[in-house]
Amino acid sequence: MDLDLTAEDRAFQDEVRAFLETSLTPELRKAGRRTTSVFTDRDYSLAWQKILHARGWAAPAWPVQYGGPGWSEMQRYIFAAECARAGAPSLSPMGLKMVGPVIMGYGTDEQKAFFLPRILAGEDYWCQGYSEPGSGSDLASLQLSAIRDGDDYVLSGSKIWTTHAHWANRMFCLVRTRKEGKPQAGITFLLLDMTLPGISVRPIITLAGDHEVNQVFFDNVRVPVSGRVGEENSGWTVAKYLLEFERGGGSAAGLRVSLERLRGLARSEGGDDGGKLIEDVAYRGKLAAAGVAVDAIEMTEHRVLAALASGNAPGPASSMLKTQGTELMQRLDELALEGLGAYAAVDQIEARAPGANIDIIGPEHGLVTAARYLNNRAASIYGGSNEIQRDIMAKLVLGL
Ligand SMILES: Cc1cc2nc3c(=O)[nH]c(=O)nc-3n(C[C@H](O)[C@H](O)[C@H](O)COP(=O)(O)OP(=O)(O)OC[C@H]3O[C@@H](n4cnc5c(N)ncnc54)[C@H](O)[C@@H]3O)c2cc1C
Repeated sequence: MDLDLTAEDRAFQDEVRAFLETSLTPELRKAGRRTTSVFTDRDYSLAWQKILHARGWAAPAWPVQYGGPGWSEMQRYIFAAECARAGAPSLSPMGLKMVGPVIMGYGTDEQKAFFLPRILAGEDYWCQGYSEPGSGSDLASLQLSAIRDGDDYVLSGSKIWTTHAHWANRMFCLVRTRKEGKPQAGITFLLLDMTLPGISVRPIITLAGDHEVNQVFFDNVRVPVSGRVGEENSGWTVAKYLLEFERGGGSAAGLRVSLERLRGLARSEGGDDGGKLIEDVAYRGKLAAAGVAVDAIEMTEHRVLAALASGNAPGPASSMLKTQGTELMQRLDELALEGLGAYAAVDQIEARAPGANIDIIGPEHGLVTAARYLNNRAASIYGGSNEIQRDIMAKLVLGL
């Protein structure tokens, strides 16, 4: 694995920088800067996705036959790093990084022809219906019932913690199609339309006061069997394949940007003893330790990307990246709070809405610090909690 940029890589980097410079409007940059959790609000992320799509860059990891740009592993890395550096809005991973690869791997030709172009163009906005009240870490115990009736499944039950369900027009979900036998062997993977009669979405407001997650109720919802991915009762295999993509990679570039931002702040903001924060030995030490951790994650990410480029699934390394990436993200949030001091206590929920035009109390960078800290506490829970990731690594890597 050669990490030095070749002349072609440098030319590519320049091309990406020039594109970002001209395509990212001030409004999109502001939305990117003000994102307080994993991905930016739908209107901004879709607007940005459409711009990327027009350039053929919406899905860097997709094969060319489905509309990917045919980039090398290094080009994809450069692109992700440049987007993070430029403060581009983050795209929802639900379509492009999660259900898209699943449809490529397990979907029928009809499903591929219908869904993949729509995902690429941002014509659909997806949500993920895996977790249920009582079934999170122990996902195989899920109970949302799907009873076959002619050409439909009839769904009853509910999903919870469904991110952006209030904006999504489509959901990929796991349903129970058989109650007998091993729980894993009675699960089916379904694609459904969120406007079907009998679906209702109830908001759950996060600690930071944001509306991101929901509970979704299904009251005898008829879902066409044509929405099934894979065979009936084989959804567990499909679900596990998807989770590897959900957990995998893409975090080092964003972490490095956060770290650089913190270093900049520490050079400009005052510390406790009258000097600059960067002169505080303890704070500087924490920044240095975080820097080493970012380097380590970046190297691991390169290894995983190299494996993906040779056609392998990410495997247990995605658990390692998920654990390390989210814990470091939380550490950086803590350092940002520490640097911001008393301003972190000011709640400015209206001012931090992407389109808001309201005066800010304190420095602009501090506007989202506390909300980000609170929202990112969830990062070590969603996508499979970090304790579960450690279980997976213990089993698959250490053979325990
Ligand atoms: C902000 C946010 C967004 C989310 N978005 C989505 C979404 O879009 N779609 C979706 O389907 N789900 C989503 N989730 C749900 C998420 O995947 C679950 O919260 C997660 O899997 C944990 O499940 P749980 O909440 O039921 O906790 P539990 O499974 O009840 O776990 C509680 C605690 O016990 C620990 N624990 C449980 N089992 C073990 C074990 N075997 N070994 C060691 N420790 C264990 C866990 O680590 C955790 O700390 C989201 C969650 C959050 C917080």
